[in-house]
Amino acid sequence: MKNISRIVPQEYSQYLNKNGNDFINDTHIWELIKKNKSPSKKRIRQIIAKALKIKRLEPDETAALLNVTDKKLLLEMQKAALAIKKKVYDNRIVTFAPLYLSNLCENDCLYCAFRKSNKSEKRRKLSLKETENEAKALVSSGHKRIIVVYGEHPSSGIDYMTDTINTIYSVKVRHGEIRRVNVNAAPMTVKELKQLKKTGIGTYQVFQETYHHDTYSKMHPTGSKSDYRWRLYALHRAQKAGIDDVAIGALFGLYDWRFEVMGLLYHTIDLEKHFGIGPHTISFPRLEPASGTTLSKKSTYKVSDEDFKKLITIIRISVPYTGMIITAREKAKIRREALSLGVTQTDASTKIGIGAYSDRYSEQEAERQQFMLGDTRSLDEVIGEFADMGYITSFCTAGYRCGRTGKCIMNLLKKGEEKWFCKMNAVLTFREWLDDYASPETKKKGEKIIKKEIDEIKKQKPKIFKKFMDDYTKIKNGERDIYF
Ligand code: SAM
Ligand code: SF4
Repeated sequence: MKNISRIVPQEYSQYLNKNGNDFINDTHIWELIKKNKSPSKKRIRQIIAKALKIKRLEPDETAALLNVTDKKLLLEMQKAALAIKKKVYDNRIVTFAPLYLSNLCENDCLYCAFRKSNKSEKRRKLSLKETENEAKALVSSGHKRIIVVYGEHPSSGIDYMTDTINTIYSVKVRHGEIRRVNVNAAPMTVKELKQLKKTGIGTYQVFQETYHHDTYSKMHPTGSKSDYRWRLYALHRAQKAGIDDVAIGALFGLYDWRFEVMGLLYHTIDLEKHFGIGPHTISFPRLEPASGTTLSKKSTYKVSDEDFKKLITIIRISVPYTGMIITAREKAKIRREALSLGVTQTDASTKIGIGAYSDRYSEQEAERQQFMLGDTRSLDEVIGEFADMGYITSFCTAGYRCGRTGKCIMNLLKKGEEKWFCKMNAVLTFREWLDDYASPETKKKGEKIIKKEIDEIKKQKPKIFKKFMDDYTKIKNGERDIYF
């Protein structure tokens, strides 16, 4: 453990196991993967059947799935992944946009353009006025959910975070506003996390990047990020501070992807063990080219499209109740394919340069952003495509605003009950969006989906249908932000 002033080891030592180790046992993970080298078809089908009951898998079971190579069996796994998603999330998809506030950073992560030693990066943090302009630009394109992203630096610490988040929540443009701000920021102390919670954030997201101890040390040579455990238990501290929607992720391409999938599962299990609830979402970004680093070209662990689809399928089956995010790092084609393997959330109209939504710079200007994007389509285009595929885009943010978060939402999701709240809220918020922001073509596509959804609600939930239609009519007549 390194002596870095921000780090308070007492805030994670309580979660270590009896012999002082954390929950990632590198040797044991490899043993499990090897032990399950040739799983029988019968066993894999039993594992699939368990997941279809929306039960989280055990490491031994996930290790077996990782070893499946039989094409037919892989197809069965893909079908199961889609069935699980339908059972828990139906045909809804959630969209959001990332908002990068600052690229000042004290860490030196070998893969990231923001790292301290990258002298070609133009450093900047947004002022509150600039933050407001960015939020206005996002609201004007119809976004209701964003994730704010910060480098780790004293000038963008907790006070800057709370100021910028409060600024974002205060922005109104005609009918629109940002209703859920999620946060991706460096690990913090419990005290700081309590302060963060007070701003009314949605999810707090920290990616472990790699769960493999040695690789982690190599990738993060200096700064507070070099402490593996400070990061590994960041979300335990968030839970302790009362933030009960937490999000995990691994940066695929730093180490063997099979190991990282096991790491994500162990992380889920440890959160469940201590807090009775797993992660709200799991992310699985792939390493992208970034300015000032050649790591993405050199890495021997680059994940092929085939393996990427396999790992998405296995995560979906292993943790059936959790949201899964694919971002605009990926190209449109693979994002489309990922939807039918279990992905539930995606960003759209993404720009990752600091100040890029509201100023004149090109969004692909390498020196101001963290890595290069694979999909730069507008929100309207992406939503139009979802509608073509039969998905309804949900702008619902009701869950966390009326207390359906954490354990409560997870229990509802596991029982399949949240589905109806979500379905009705998806229709109400999609109605709003179509009337306020959609292009004529997207609106036409959206109307078809809305009609189909309303018919389903009428058939399946006759008792509540009248109340739902009253609200729907209010929205058609111009009222906003009505939800169940
Ligand atoms: N500084 C904070 C941290 O590291 O946790 C939060 C912001 S960081 C900009 C957000 C995420 O970007 C990181 O957790 C990492 O997974 C991802 N990232 C960094 N470089 C990347 C690259 N070259 N390709 C894809 N994702 C990358
Ligand atoms: Fe800084 Fe985060 Fe980039 Fe690492 S990944 S250099 S901590 S911004």
